[in-house]
Amino acid sequence: MEERKRRIALNEMVFREVNEQIEGLTSGVLQVGDDETMSIVCECGEITCAERLTTTVSDYESIRSDALLFFVLPGHELPDVEDVVEQTDAYLVVRKRPEAIGGKIAVEHDPRSN
Ligand SMILES: [Zn+2]
Repeated sequence: MEERKRRIALNEMVFREVNEQIEGLTSGVLQVGDDETMSIVCECGEITCAERLTTTVSDYESIRSDALLFFVLPGHELPDVEDVVEQTDAYLVVRKRPEAIGGKIAVEHDPRSN
């Protein structure tokens, strides 16, 4: 059970890193403005999920500033390891539980922490 949760969390870390690269290119290289949209990958715990979702650069930045928050498509949330804290037409924002293994891994691998 803990192994499954650990695997889910590590998968989410992989997708978050991919999105950090996308965001870096979008705002850094393409110089896209804060209110413009960008296409990122779903950050759910399913490693075979290759679906994409659309958000704005500014929404991406505000979610990413909290290491416990992740973007997932509706239906891709895993209620046993995370809570839905925001819902839009395009995606859900889920929050990992800080006391659980997934939350600990999310904080430990926070790409914005250094
Ligand atoms: Zn997904």
